[in-house]
Amino acid sequence: MPPRRRDGAYVHNAGTSSESEGFDDIDDGNYGDKRKNKGKGKAKDTGKGSQDKGKGKSKEQAYAWEATYTRSWDTVQEDEGGSLQTAVEDLLARGRRRRLLEPSSAIRRTIIRHLMLLLDLSSSMLDRDLRPSRFDLTLEYSRQFIVEWFDQNPLGQIGIVGMRGGLGERIGDMSGNPQDVLKAISDRRRLQPDGDPSLQNAIDMARGSMSHLPTHSSREILIIYGSLTTCDPGNIHDTLDACINDKIRVSVVSLAAEMKICRELANKTGGVFGVVMNEDHYKELMFELVPPPAQRSASRLTGGSTNFSADLMMMGFPTRLPDTSPLSLCVCHSQLKGEGFLCPRCKAQVCDVPTDCDICGLMIVSSPHLARSYHHLFPVKPYQAVTETGLSPSPKCHGCSHSFPEKPSATGSDPTTADVISPLGRYRCPDCEKDFCADCDVFVHDVLHVCPGCQ
Ligand SMILES: [Zn+2]
Ligand SMILES: [Zn+2]
Ligand SMILES: [Zn+2]
Ligand SMILES: [Zn+2]
Repeated sequence: MPPRRRDGAYVHNAGTSSESEGFDDIDDGNYGDKRKNKGKGKAKDTGKGSQDKGKGKSKEQAYAWEATYTRSWDTVQEDEGGSLQTAVEDLLARGRRRRLLEPSSAIRRTIIRHLMLLLDLSSSMLDRDLRPSRFDLTLEYSRQFIVEWFDQNPLGQIGIVGMRGGLGERIGDMSGNPQDVLKAISDRRRLQPDGDPSLQNAIDMARGSMSHLPTHSSREILIIYGSLTTCDPGNIHDTLDACINDKIRVSVVSLAAEMKICRELANKTGGVFGVVMNEDHYKELMFELVPPPAQRSASRLTGGSTNFSADLMMMGFPTRLPDTSPLSLCVCHSQLKGEGFLCPRCKAQVCDVPTDCDICGLMIVSSPHLARSYHHLFPVKPYQAVTETGLSPSPKCHGCSHSFPEKPSATGSDPTTADVISPLGRYRCPDCEKDFCADCDVFVHDVLHVCPGCQ
C-alpha cells in the first residue's frame, strides 16, 4: 500500500480496489461499491450509488425469510379487461425463454442414471421459513421430483437416505420402480425430523450402495440440506476425495445458507449447488437435475482426456410372464410370484424392469423404456416466435388444427417478452417451417419430444 499523503484520492482508490477484489464473489460487488463511495467522500456520488443499489435490490426476488406474509392471489394480476390471459401468457413466455437457453444440438448424455436422494431429517427441517414447513415442502417436492425424474429417465434408479440423529438412515433401497421409491417416503410420521444431520455418514452410506455399479452408468447424489452444521465422525474431506475417486456427482440444494463444504462437494464433483430463495425457486433448483447430465463435465473432471469412443454394453429384453403362469420364486425378493419378467440369458424371474439381473448381472430393460430415453440425445429445436406472417400463412395450427387469430394481439408489445411471445400466436419449427400454436409448442417440447411436422 502506498503511503498516505498528497493525492488522497489516489491512495483511497488504490486501497479500495484491492480490497474490493477479494470480496467480489461474496457480495456481487456491492461491498466494493460501498467502499469506493466512502473513499471518495462526495455526497453526490454516494447518493447515486445507494440509489442504484436500492433499485437493484428491489428487482431481485426476496428471500423467503426476509419477506412478510404473501397472498398468493395477489401474484396473479388481471389485465384491464379483467382477464387472466396476460398472466397465463407471461407464464408460458417464461417457459419458452428457459427452453431457448437450452442446447438444442445433440450432446452425449448419460441415460442410465443412478441417483441417491439424501434428505435432511434434522430438527432444522421443522423451520417454517418455507411454507408449510421445510420438511413438508421437501416431502412434497421430492414426490413430484421422483415422478418427473422417472418419466424423463425410465432407465434410472433412485434410492433414498435420510440424515437424522447424527446418522445416515436407509429409507428406500435403489429401485427402478417409481412406486417403490414413492412408497418409501409416503409415511410422514416415519420420517419425523429429529437431532443433527451428518453429511459424512449419509454420503458414505449412499456411496456404499452405489459401489457395485458398472462404469457406464452415472452415479449421482442429490442432497437436500436444511441445516447449517454437520456432525461427522471423521474428516469429511476424505469422503469428498472418495466421491471424486468414485466419479460420484454430488449436487446440493441448501434450504438455509451456503456452507463451504457443500459448495466444495458440488464444485469438485461436477455437481450443482444452489441456495433456496423461496418455494418456487426451491422447485426450480431441484427440477434442474431432472434432465440427464451431459457427459462432457464428467470427462473434464478426470483431467481433460476426453474419451469420445463409446463403449458397447449388453442389455437384455425380458420376456413378460403371462398372468396365468404358475407361481415361482423371484430372484429379487425370494417370494413366490405369478407375474414378472424372465431374464433372457439365465431365465431367472425378476419382478420389475429396468433392473440388473441378480443372477447373471445382465441389465434388463424393456424396449419402450429405451425408446423413451432417446429424446434427450436428440432434443426438438426450440420453435421461433413468428412476428410477421409471410405471403400465404397456413390458417391452422399444424398440431391441433386450431385456427390462428386473424389480427395480432397487443401482448407482444412488451419489449422484454417480444422475442419469446408471438403477437400472432404462431411458433415456427426451424426445420419443417410449420406453424404451431402456443399450447402445441409447450406440448411438443415438454411431453412429445418429437416435432409432428418433421416426422
Ligand atoms: Zn422380486
Ligand atoms: Zn440373468
Ligand atoms: Zn395447436
Ligand atoms: Zn419440425
